[in-house]
Amino acid sequence: MIQKNLFEDIMRTKPIFKNREFLRHTYIPDRLLHRDEQVKQLARILAAPLRGETPSNVLIYGKPGTGKTATVRYVGKELEEASKNSQMKVNVLYLNCEIVNTHYRVLASLAETLLDQMKESEVVKNLPRIPRTGWPLDEVYRAFVKTLDAENRQVVIVLDEIDKLVRKEGDDVLYSLTRVNLELKKARTCIIGISNNLSFINMLDARVRSSLSGEEVVFPPYNANQLRDILEERARMSFCDGVLAEGVIPLCAAYAAREHGDARRALDLLRVAGEIAEEEGAETVTVEHVRKAHETIEQDHIVEVIKTLPLQSKLVLLAISILAQRKPRPVTTGEVYEYYKMICHKSGTDVLTSRRVQDLIAELDLLGIICARLVNRGRYGRTKEIKLNIHPLQVQALVQEDAILSLVGPEIFAFLSP
Ligand code: ADP
Ligand code: MG
Repeated sequence: MIQKNLFEDIMRTKPIFKNREFLRHTYIPDRLLHRDEQVKQLARILAAPLRGETPSNVLIYGKPGTGKTATVRYVGKELEEASKNSQMKVNVLYLNCEIVNTHYRVLASLAETLLDQMKESEVVKNLPRIPRTGWPLDEVYRAFVKTLDAENRQVVIVLDEIDKLVRKEGDDVLYSLTRVNLELKKARTCIIGISNNLSFINMLDARVRSSLSGEEVVFPPYNANQLRDILEERARMSFCDGVLAEGVIPLCAAYAAREHGDARRALDLLRVAGEIAEEEGAETVTVEHVRKAHETIEQDHIVEVIKTLPLQSKLVLLAISILAQRKPRPVTTGEVYEYYKMICHKSGTDVLTSRRVQDLIAELDLLGIICARLVNRGRYGRTKEIKLNIHPLQVQALVQEDAILSLVGPEIFAFLSP
């Protein structure tokens, strides 16, 4: 037999992707589709600095994947461009508060970004450098103010995922940022806060809240047609010509439209579908690949949710998984409670009432980890039949990772093995 060269197969199949980087969330497109309204609104507010006026603070909100980050970064870039031809210096400082989320680090990174943007200027030499840690907070604040006020300028501070900052640190940071203009002689600042939900504003002091929401811009979910347009544009840049079968983009758009109009989900589906096709050595991406991508992404999502469940919910889920593994028919709430109690005893955990466990089951259903269906069983009354949306063994592996349960030790898991 003639030995085939190792690379022959790989080289023979035509590539699927031209450049998959364009499908990532972090890529900022040059052209935003279906966001004219929001772009115009923001541009109207942010035109003020070009005239030397200070804009009001802006609060932006909308569900994940509705283009908030992409839009603000796009408008910010345009604003900086425009300021190059104007009298007024404008700087846009972008910060993702999911990554930078302490009072100290927020001030330090904003100062650092601004210093970096000013590096051509003479004044930089005399400005303090804030170390990554170690200074008292008031000293960090003074250095931050000094950096802002080094020159006449308008500074737009973008706090993306601002809710994460408030949940972690309270509103002290926002309090000082909304008042910083009082300390500035030459410069002026405004804040753009971006959030996926509005509940965090209830955690704010009334003054901070009213100052922060001077203007509000809402990002509604995309519908399936809008998602199709967004995907088509990105697909042209990232896939080789003609590899996408008919119906692929519409199906990705339809799935993502169901998922609160999430452009991020739509792009993920398209990318993963392409990757599955690539792995299979297929020459085209088909709707079947999109279906598989949808399943993979759902599973990944369920896994993430399980990891963050509180202990008691994990125990209930564990009981469901053991039952599901042992018998072919649907599991009922009564059986779950019996197994749940056994697991609690073995692991030395408190036992909740059957009522509370039913609530936890309803919660697992809402989270999409299980499907619970109410059934009438004649004179036995009504019960819920439960089906797992993930493999029972995977549940057990995930639950076993819980620090508390791993302390209880292998006993409980020995009890699991048939
Ligand atoms: P959000 O910040 O609201 O969660 P993003 O701005 O991160 O959403 O958008 C998610 C992904 O979808 C990004 O890759 C972004 O480039 C893309 N995207 C969102 N809206 C649009 C749009 N209107 N046109 C083109 N791409 C978009
Ligand atoms: Mg975002």
